[in-house]
Amino acid sequence: MAKVELKGISKVYEGNVRAVDNANIVVEDKEFVVFVGPSGCGKSTTLRMVAGLEDITEGELYIDGELMNDVPPKDRNIAMVFQNYALYPHMTVYENMAFGLRIKKVAKDEIDRRVHEAARILDIEKFLDRKPKALSGGQRQRVAVGRAIVRNPKVFLFDEPLSNLDAKLRVQMRAELSELHLRLNATMIYVTHDQVEAMTMANKIVVMKDGKIQQIGSPLFLYNHP
Ligand code: ADP
Ligand code: ADP
Repeated sequence: MAKVELKGISKVYEGNVRAVDNANIVVEDKEFVVFVGPSGCGKSTTLRMVAGLEDITEGELYIDGELMNDVPPKDRNIAMVFQNYALYPHMTVYENMAFGLRIKKVAKDEIDRRVHEAARILDIEKFLDRKPKALSGGQRQRVAVGRAIVRNPKVFLFDEPLSNLDAKLRVQMRAELSELHLRLNATMIYVTHDQVEAMTMANKIVVMKDGKIQQIGSPLFLYNHP
């Protein structure tokens, strides 16, 4: 179970920049919700508040009915995948995926099990001993997703994970991420400026502009009512 609720959430940065203005949205359990809108509209800030990487200025964030505003990121049971992969260059793929679990003192055989399972799902088993620099962009992005999967999070957060990839790979990875959503049966919140990505992947689309939610709807509805 993982239902995420944003109730009247706002973010005001220093200098009185209202990056997010009174966002109200319910992400149901197992839903794939995509926030879409132009650069600077507040998507990333919204996601970072859900992750706990950014303080919430106003409003309340609930995960499964529990107030999260003051809960540190490590206790929110979420995992975030970033645009720039954020892999450790000196570690192998295996070590990159295992690192977070080692710090959490997860048992070695359990780490091993989870890393291999994630690698199998993502089809990167062959690369476990390689360093990130010996991987293609798509393979690196899979490792970044793998690092999130091994945490067994309740909620996956994606911040423009495909925007550094070329067009062909983007199309392929879209399909892979949709499949991953079905396979993991997890709640996912995904942020992008790419409307096609939103239309092809989302169960529910949240359209943002100038910090405000403009529209919430199914891909088909929004396609017919632009
Ligand atoms: P998006 O993800 O949609 O591109 P962001 O959430 O990154 O938008 O940014 C929303 C607004 O907040 C922008 O105007 C941006 O300049 C501003 N902003 C983002 N981060 C900060 C920060 N740390 N300090 C001040 N303003 C910020
Ligand atoms: P490090 O951040 O140095 O890799 P950890 O993996 O233990 O070490 O992370 C420390 C905390 O940072 C975690 O408990 C978690 O809350 C947060 N964190 C690290 N990676 C992620 C991620 N991919 N998604 C969400 N939170 C993360």
